[in-house]
Amino acid sequence: MDQRNQLRIFRRQDRTAVLGPGTRAVIWVQGCPFGCPGCIVPESWPSDGGQIVSVNELSDWLLELPEIEGLTLSGGEPMQQPEALCELLDSVRAERDLGVMCYTGYRHEDLLHRGSPAQQALLERIDLLVDGPYIRHRHAELLWRGSSNQRLLDLSGLYAEVLAELADDSAGLELELDNEGLFFTGVPPRSGFLEQLSAGLASRGISLRREGDGE
Ligand code: SF4
Repeated sequence: MDQRNQLRIFRRQDRTAVLGPGTRAVIWVQGCPFGCPGCIVPESWPSDGGQIVSVNELSDWLLELPEIEGLTLSGGEPMQQPEALCELLDSVRAERDLGVMCYTGYRHEDLLHRGSPAQQALLERIDLLVDGPYIRHRHAELLWRGSSNQRLLDLSGLYAEVLAELADDSAGLELELDNEGLFFTGVPPRSGFLEQLSAGLASRGISLRREGDGE
């Protein structure tokens, strides 16, 4: 796979209001080396899963979404595919402003001081970073993140005013029902929430599609 021109993704979504400031598109990349117990999207872990999409296609898709303020990168682990994500962000930002939020299992300091050149280049393009792995026994109701070790880092200042006005509390989940079942987006408010929800829905013949956020 060409590391710059193609991205292996788990899923993408046109819009959400629960994974970052305002209304955003989301790309969940495929492949994650962390294997956090309690991760809600283990399907995104294998580096040979998901689907390969060209950067050009993703760029065109983002440019045709007029209502979004920004893009959230989740996973999977975005820092496993930094070259293609840099290419994508540069391509889109050449045409329009786009705030970028990114989830990563790495600590910010590790990326800053020991990351590869491509990881550091991606870091330079990110406005908001949620860093560190999900730790189940530290699960907490926090803004856009799942456990209390994870930090919400304002790297560029773009969202400083927004963050100053928001409480550090769960942004909730979005639920959408279609013919394949109930799909959710967002960070569950407590550990085990999705298992309970899934069991309750299953008893009513509805399947829960667990492609929300991994963190
Ligand atoms: S929570 Fe995030 S970092 Fe941890 S295994 Fe899941 S996708 Fe990877």
